[in-house]
Amino acid sequence: MKNRTGKKWTENQAEENSKLQAGEDFFLLPPEAADDEPLFATLRYAYDEIYLLGFDNGIFRQVHRNGNTRLMPVATRDMESALRDAFGGRIHPGDHVEYAGLMDAARWSLSAGISDVLCRDMRKQTRNGAYAWVQVSVFPLKDTQNRQCCLLCCKEIENREFSENLVRDNKLLHQKNMDALRYKAALDHARILVFEWRGSELCYVHPRIPAILDGNYDGRFLFDVWREDNVVYSGDMPVFEDCLARLMLGIKTGEMTIRLRRRGGRFSWYKVTYVSLNDADRAERYIGAITDVDVVVRSEQSLRLRAEIDPLTGACNTQTFFEKIDALRKAWPQEPYTVLRFDVAGFKSINESLGLAEGNRLLRAIARQTRKCLHPEKDVYARLTADVFAVCMSGGTDSALRFVQSLSQKVERFFEGFRTRLYFGICQAEEGISGHVLCDRAYQAQKTVKDSELGNFAFYDARLRDRLQKESYVTRRMHSALEKKQFKLFLQPKVEVSSGRVVGAEALVRWEHPEDGIISPGSFISLFERNGFIVRLDEYIWAQTCLTLASWLDKGHTPVPISVNVSRLHFSTADLPRKFSRLLRASGLPHNLLELELTESAFFSNKAAMQKLMDELGNAGFLFAMDDFGTGYSSLSTLRDLPFTTVKLDQAFVNDCTGNERSRILVRDAIALVNNLNMHVVAEGVETEDHAYFLLKSGCNCVQGFLYARPMEAETFERLFLEEKKSFPLTNHGIRGEALRQGLPLGEPTH
Ligand code: C2E
Ligand code: CA
Ligand code: CA
Repeated sequence: MKNRTGKKWTENQAEENSKLQAGEDFFLLPPEAADDEPLFATLRYAYDEIYLLGFDNGIFRQVHRNGNTRLMPVATRDMESALRDAFGGRIHPGDHVEYAGLMDAARWSLSAGISDVLCRDMRKQTRNGAYAWVQVSVFPLKDTQNRQCCLLCCKEIENREFSENLVRDNKLLHQKNMDALRYKAALDHARILVFEWRGSELCYVHPRIPAILDGNYDGRFLFDVWREDNVVYSGDMPVFEDCLARLMLGIKTGEMTIRLRRRGGRFSWYKVTYVSLNDADRAERYIGAITDVDVVVRSEQSLRLRAEIDPLTGACNTQTFFEKIDALRKAWPQEPYTVLRFDVAGFKSINESLGLAEGNRLLRAIARQTRKCLHPEKDVYARLTADVFAVCMSGGTDSALRFVQSLSQKVERFFEGFRTRLYFGICQAEEGISGHVLCDRAYQAQKTVKDSELGNFAFYDARLRDRLQKESYVTRRMHSALEKKQFKLFLQPKVEVSSGRVVGAEALVRWEHPEDGIISPGSFISLFERNGFIVRLDEYIWAQTCLTLASWLDKGHTPVPISVNVSRLHFSTADLPRKFSRLLRASGLPHNLLELELTESAFFSNKAAMQKLMDELGNAGFLFAMDDFGTGYSSLSTLRDLPFTTVKLDQAFVNDCTGNERSRILVRDAIALVNNLNMHVVAEGVETEDHAYFLLKSGCNCVQGFLYARPMEAETFERLFLEEKKSFPLTNHGIRGEALRQGLPLGEPTH
């Protein structure tokens, strides 16, 4: 401590100074040390003036002033006036209070033994007479003789504003620190782990991050640790990479929810977010936060799973199914996909007869077998509603057919004692056609085989597509067609074979389309029965029929009865008797002029209700004809139980009657049966004289068919058969002879 011993001090100061510098623990800076003493040099550099003061012991020394380092002799006067002369006298009058306050505080601190540094800003006169802002600091200390004294240091503040800013900044910083502390407390509470980086340099990692998460945190960027040490769950890598790519692109904020491996090896869900703090002209600074969202994500997942999966069968639900179809087709664009829709025939009655539990057991078995047949990643299946399933499977139609066959076989013998049938609609996926549409097409195909005994699957093909397109064309136009009266009443004569006289007519509808010409009912009736429009159309035709009959009466003709077709759909409400009564009342017609043709299919849904309606109508005086007798639906019990007065032999039956012996026997015996039941019999589809002769011989004298006339406009019918009284007597085949033999009415002999 050579310099600190002060060997360079001047002679006249030596004595005084020796008092100050003696002792090993000299801690007052030796002013003489000048440039050799780094600490003194620093003080000298930092302050313009330095004084040593002792309030109690009268010490006053000017240590350094305006670049001159020198020691003034020990004050001969009192310390206060020496200080005033050297320093205090130059303080701006406006800051005298400030200066006096500082001195009082310094005096008080020293006497109290408080060692805090005091500091005040004030204005002080410079050498050129002007005032400048200075910062005056008082450092308490002890001199070498252990006397309480202090060092008063003064430095000019070049810019008061600067100092004010400094103070404000400090306050802000403090405020920020407080905020940061509060923020940190909040973060800790929310279990958010923070990390920070600037450019490529990792600045801070919350200590719990390496404690919890796997990986070697050796100073590498956190995201690199996770990637390189396989901390990120492989399935979440795309999300992770995507987020990093966004970061690389300079996107200021990012977020990802990914699985990270914990120290124990288990993966947990974490939400990782980051945001740029945007340090001006520095490398970009980012704060990242990691939140443990495992419980939230897992419970969300299980909720979603519950919402996506049918709890009974484990199949997808409808919404998920369609989402998955689209995703699968995107994921495997080269795969030919097929969509199938299928359900259980008579599932409702299975439930009713065997109970819901058995029904559910069947549905679970179907789902299980379906699952077995499908590819776990490429295929998807769903339960759309009750017993309706849908499948979207990879592979062509061959795979689909193998699936149909396998599942049908497995399900067929599920219940002992009866056969369980599935019906499938199949549709091949087409580019640009959505899953919804494909499933709808499969349903259209399925409807074409529903309840068929022949096959249990159908494809949606070009033929079906054409048909459906036509149907949609018709559906779009049917309402306006009715309003524009494009539906016309046509009448086909019923002829008494023996006489050739027209004894009745059947009302048949025709659609006179302005562009498409006359459309026959074969191309729209079944559609109208499916979409319900037949109810309105029938009522219109009935009304037209009544109007026609009424006009004939008005014109003085003797009208023949007309039969109208009554769709089975009318029997689903109890309204029918009221509708007919109102019609007849409005037209003033007797009931026996209108005959109602019903097909037996109408009786299947509810025979008891049907019987009630027929009884009601029968009591009102209406007559019934059973249409299409001899087709699949006929049963003798219907003939026995329901009040029919006429039976119409179906044309398929009639067409065969001149073919083989069996057909002849069938037709003959059917006619005999009807006659024996005291009902009238009308044969439809009579196209040849052979037919007419055979039917007459067999006991059927009333026929309808192209041999006599095709359905014609009501006006034509009126002119030909009511005005001109045209008839169709036949002489060949011995019809006349047969008629004579049976004593039947004869017509005029033809020449
Ligand atoms: P349907 O009630 O059995 O009517 C008899 C059908 O046989 C009529 O066909 C008629 O034109 C046709 N036909 C008559 N004689 C012959 C023949 O000698 N040979 C052949 N091959 N066919 C013959 P149409 O008019 O095409 O009607 C077809 C079906 O449409 C009707 O069968 C009936 O079920 C239904 N239909 C027609 N008009 C109406 C209606 O206004 N309401 C309802 N609900 N159904 C109607
Ligand atoms: Ca008919
Ligand atoms: Ca018929």
